[in-house]
Amino acid sequence: MANFIVLLGPPGAGKGTQAEILSENLNLVHISTGDIFRENLRNETELGLLAKGYMAKGELVPDDVTNEMVRDRISREDTREGGALLDGYPRTPDQAQALAAMLEDIDGKVLCVPYIAVPASVLVERLSGRWTCPVCSTPYHPVSKPPKVAGICDHDGAALVQREDDKPATVKNRIDVYMENTAPLIDFYQKQNILVEVDGTQDIDQVSADLLRAIKARM
Ligand code: ADP
Ligand code: AMP
Repeated sequence: MANFIVLLGPPGAGKGTQAEILSENLNLVHISTGDIFRENLRNETELGLLAKGYMAKGELVPDDVTNEMVRDRISREDTREGGALLDGYPRTPDQAQALAAMLEDIDGKVLCVPYIAVPASVLVERLSGRWTCPVCSTPYHPVSKPPKVAGICDHDGAALVQREDDKPATVKNRIDVYMENTAPLIDFYQKQNILVEVDGTQDIDQVSADLLRAIKARM
């Protein structure tokens, strides 16, 4: 049975940072819906153009569009057989239900849902300081995760960029949108006994250690 891990947490909690570490450690495919939307945006696909306005405002792309995109990605052989680490999906109760139905179709299951808890007051500083690789999407921060060479991605040498939606006004809306639409999933997965809360205010290595321990205990 293919196991899926859902990384839950507000924007800036460290999902992308941890997904990079966990996917390597656990040899799991990393699926970030935000990255897929951004790639579509860069390539000016129909999906990218549709998502553009929502992303710029920090709103969620409509559930039917997002669910269809994830269904398509998950149905590929690598994930159908080996599972994946989901980062940024599901983000609404409707998406969580859709994911459950998709996994039933491929005989997969959500193994566990690590919830990376970080208070809103910390998120704004993290997001306004985030620099991202436009090629491989690795996030950096001048204080907590500086690249080896300033402004350059460690992995592929690309010049780091600041995401349009990491500007203060959009960040505030993204946190509000998370509180209203995504935070209810904490309760949803807690009721299924698969939620594990991890203190996301610790340094990056400590968060990884806690996540790995929690996930391995359920494997
Ligand atoms: P998310 O994917 O949840 O939006 P990111 O992984 O992109 O979050 O992290 C947001 C910002 O915070 C990045 O600049 C990242 O380098 C930084 N960061 C991630 N984890 C930590 C941590 N534990 N402590 C301090 N900064 C962190
Ligand atoms: P992220 O990279 O996870 O911060 O996502 C960036 C933006 O992409 C979000 O603000 C949304 O506009 C869009 N997005 C990413 N994932 C989803 C999702 N699961 N549902 C709806 N919109 C999403």
